[in-house]
Amino acid sequence: MGQLRIIKGTPVARGLALGRVHVVRARPKVVPTWSVAGEDVEKEIARLEGAISQTDEDLRRRQSLVAAHSGAKDAEIFSVHRMLLQDPTSRRKVEACIREQRINAEAAVQQLIERFRTTLGALGGEGQRGYAADFSDPWQGVLDALLKREREHMVAVGEQVVLAAAELTPQVVTFLEREHVLAVITETGGRYSHGAVLARSFGVPCVVGLANLLSRLEQGMRVSVDGDRGTVQLKPDQEDVDRFLERLARRKARESRLSVHASLPSVTPDGRTFGVQVNIETLQDLDTFPTATCDGVGLLRTEFLYMERTQFPSEDEQYRLYRRVLEKMNGRPVTLRTLDIGNDKRLSYFQTPEEANPALGWRGLRISIEWQDLLRVQLRAALRASAHGELRILLPMLTSLEELRTTRRIFEDVRAQLAEQGHEVAARVPFGLMIEVPSTLLILPQLLAEADFVSVGTNDLVQYLLAVDRDNPWVAKLYDPEHPAVWRALSMVAEASAAARKPCSVCGEMAGDYATALLLMGLGYGSVSVVPHLLAEVKLAVRETPYAEARELAVEVLRKVTSQEVGRVLASARERLHRRHLAESGDEAALEAGDPAADEASGRRDSD
Ligand code: PEP
Ligand code: MG
Repeated sequence: MGQLRIIKGTPVARGLALGRVHVVRARPKVVPTWSVAGEDVEKEIARLEGAISQTDEDLRRRQSLVAAHSGAKDAEIFSVHRMLLQDPTSRRKVEACIREQRINAEAAVQQLIERFRTTLGALGGEGQRGYAADFSDPWQGVLDALLKREREHMVAVGEQVVLAAAELTPQVVTFLEREHVLAVITETGGRYSHGAVLARSFGVPCVVGLANLLSRLEQGMRVSVDGDRGTVQLKPDQEDVDRFLERLARRKARESRLSVHASLPSVTPDGRTFGVQVNIETLQDLDTFPTATCDGVGLLRTEFLYMERTQFPSEDEQYRLYRRVLEKMNGRPVTLRTLDIGNDKRLSYFQTPEEANPALGWRGLRISIEWQDLLRVQLRAALRASAHGELRILLPMLTSLEELRTTRRIFEDVRAQLAEQGHEVAARVPFGLMIEVPSTLLILPQLLAEADFVSVGTNDLVQYLLAVDRDNPWVAKLYDPEHPAVWRALSMVAEASAAARKPCSVCGEMAGDYATALLLMGLGYGSVSVVPHLLAEVKLAVRETPYAEARELAVEVLRKVTSQEVGRVLASARERLHRRHLAESGDEAALEAGDPAADEASGRRDSD
């Protein structure tokens, strides 16, 4: 019986959560549908009425504004829209839909809009299609009001909830104040999509690929989420809850033991230092862990600071933000990545085209080079902030030496301009690039000759190397960081960097897996950058593994020719580490709780 209520998906971020579910709008054009419990039907109708009144009031305001500016004739359309909204037949239809189908008001309004489109649209001709749009316009307003009210309600809600959505987009993850999110569960989304990256940075469990999830949920239904195994249990009974709480307690105990290692230096038993830095999306991330435990910020994804706003942040605003990050890091390096928008990372106030192949389209550095004003403002703000810490600049999605030269010229130009204007700027601000596009692998020596450091963005590098869209659920199984080609590419970067005597790091998600981090150390990387809550695990692995052993592992992995073989090397590294840790610490509880990373890996294989 219990099994019927367990939905299996793909684990994206580890952890356990138990709470009430809240369904949110998945993306602007998709209206969420969920079931409404019998006793909540009247509440849903009251929500609908509230949204209708709000839309009516909005139309009335716009009517008088237009009348004042352009005359009463131009304002007539608003009175027609208000009449349409009061039309008892349409209202009755939407209400009946909520009562009979027991669905949320948004879905019922959407059905009405669809009906206008099919009945009037079917008549053919531009004119009729225009009417369909006119008839549905005011109801579209009601829909917007409902979705907006929903959002406001969510932000205001005091209770922590499990966020459920159709798709895991960055918008969905940034929908809620993070302190209100217990877990994120979605019907689709890739393990390495930006939504998943964000969910991991929240440090909350996340499971994607849960088939027909939304139709099985009711708003407020209790669910338990297992981010290790990738499962969601609907309406857990008391026995399930007790078992869940037991596991949670064990996990918490393990985490608190791990946190001790977080504050110790990241040095191997044979004396090799390996930097463990953090990936930061927002300023709030810096409050979620003791910043003194990391070796700096390896990746500051500035686009999320832009996404939280309603217009481009000004130079001063950015300066203050960057300065705060630098000051918080107290002398540790902060690697600021220039704006990396496009593809699934969109700004509501900046129109980017609808592209057939957005991952191969107008994104990252390409936008910064074309819209140089944006880049100049960002670099000005960053360089001004550099006087307050150890700043490094990192370029995303670079493809060619020309792009590096163009951007470096702008960077030097901005620096000279700031000096002329009397601004204080740090004497040295290292200028580096991300290795994300395969072309950069083939011109590494030339790039390294003109850059100060490189950082590998494996999330994108894997997608471009294997020709697998990181956001496309249809090919999610083919997105394979264990592919031998990925390891050969990683090795090429380490070797070329060593030859050029320039630091190299990995900031993609795979570096957060402690066995992978060890292999990267063995390949010659000087550091990795991971989400803050994986810092302790990676540091513990480094502290317990001699460098010579990591080196052997790296040599072994480079000999492998299939993903399965690479996977086995990683699994044996995990196993060895786990046994060593147990032998050294006698940490029985850790054994009981299991190795979450291994669980996750096996979960990944199960779902494959
Ligand atoms: C990457 O591609 O690995 C990376 C770190 O950048 P993002 O995930 O923001 O694209
Ligand atoms: Mg990237």
